[in-house]
Amino acid sequence: AKADGKDTCRFFETAMGAEARDRRLMEVELRHAVARNEFRLVYQPQKEISGGKVLGFEALIRWEQPQRGNVSPATFIPIAEESGAIIQIGEWVLATACAEAASWPNPLTIAVNVSAVQLHNPNFTGMVHETLLRSGLAPGRLELEITETALVKDMQRALATLRQIKALGVRVAMDDFGTGYSSLSNLRAFPFDKIKIDGSFIKSVDRNGQIAAIVRAVLGLGRGLGLPVLAEGVETLDELKFLDAEACQIGQGYFLGRPGPIGGFAKITGKKAIK
Ligand code: C2E
Ligand code: CA
Ligand code: CA
Ligand code: CA
Repeated sequence: AKADGKDTCRFFETAMGAEARDRRLMEVELRHAVARNEFRLVYQPQKEISGGKVLGFEALIRWEQPQRGNVSPATFIPIAEESGAIIQIGEWVLATACAEAASWPNPLTIAVNVSAVQLHNPNFTGMVHETLLRSGLAPGRLELEITETALVKDMQRALATLRQIKALGVRVAMDDFGTGYSSLSNLRAFPFDKIKIDGSFIKSVDRNGQIAAIVRAVLGLGRGLGLPVLAEGVETLDELKFLDAEACQIGQGYFLGRPGPIGGFAKITGKKAIK
């Protein structure tokens, strides 16, 4: 029994060691991935719910690592945040997305995810400003998606940065609304232009009374604060119908369009979502 315990212990040490080693290896891979051209962006439409009109697209990063294949951003973004590689990756994302969007018909918008580490980098506002100038994209067509978790680390600094960003004319959306903490006070304290309800609240919103009540409350909050609400993760017609009936303005999700490459003009001019 004693030997067994020892073996078990050794097994866990080895397993944990392997996991930590793989994480460090991925950190190194991420440091080189921009230069090695391993990232690309896909774009998912954001549509007006009542009429189905395409308002813009969210840029989502994809990483094709030669040995690993496709690695989900949910896996590698946290590692890139921890190692600091997210700064360089985030700059590549913003530059690529803005350059792409500059070729779209006005007034289509581009939404770009920004992580907490980027937001707290002292160069952030300057980097955004320079990227806009280089791409020629009008600042009002760029929207940065920021989660609450990004704000709570250093609220005063986050607020100062958001104000600088807004002064450039860039818009900011609160991402993953409902999944963080102290959502309500954050909505008041920070100058957001939009609320994105997290997809986990949209799943089965048409069939689950409690989830429906939460989504209705967020929509009421948006109306009261004068902020448009975007529902993410819309996967079915019934979910879309519920959101339309509750006067949710904007939707995003597989039912309205999967993330993909921008296939030219035709793809951008969308068709009606409901009628
Ligand atoms: P997010 O910002 O909440 O993005 C929405 C995620 O939901 C995306 O996953 C998208 O592909 C997926 N999605 C869209 N429609 C549906 C739907 O109808 N059903 C379901 N189940 N999922 C849907 P993805 O692309 O894997 O990205 C995951 C997360 O990684 C993002 O969540 C975001 O937090 C982060 N991320 C992605 N790209 C970037 C980036 O360029 N920079 C940063 N910092 N983070 C990024
Ligand atoms: Ca997002
Ligand atoms: Ca989300
Ligand atoms: Ca997210």
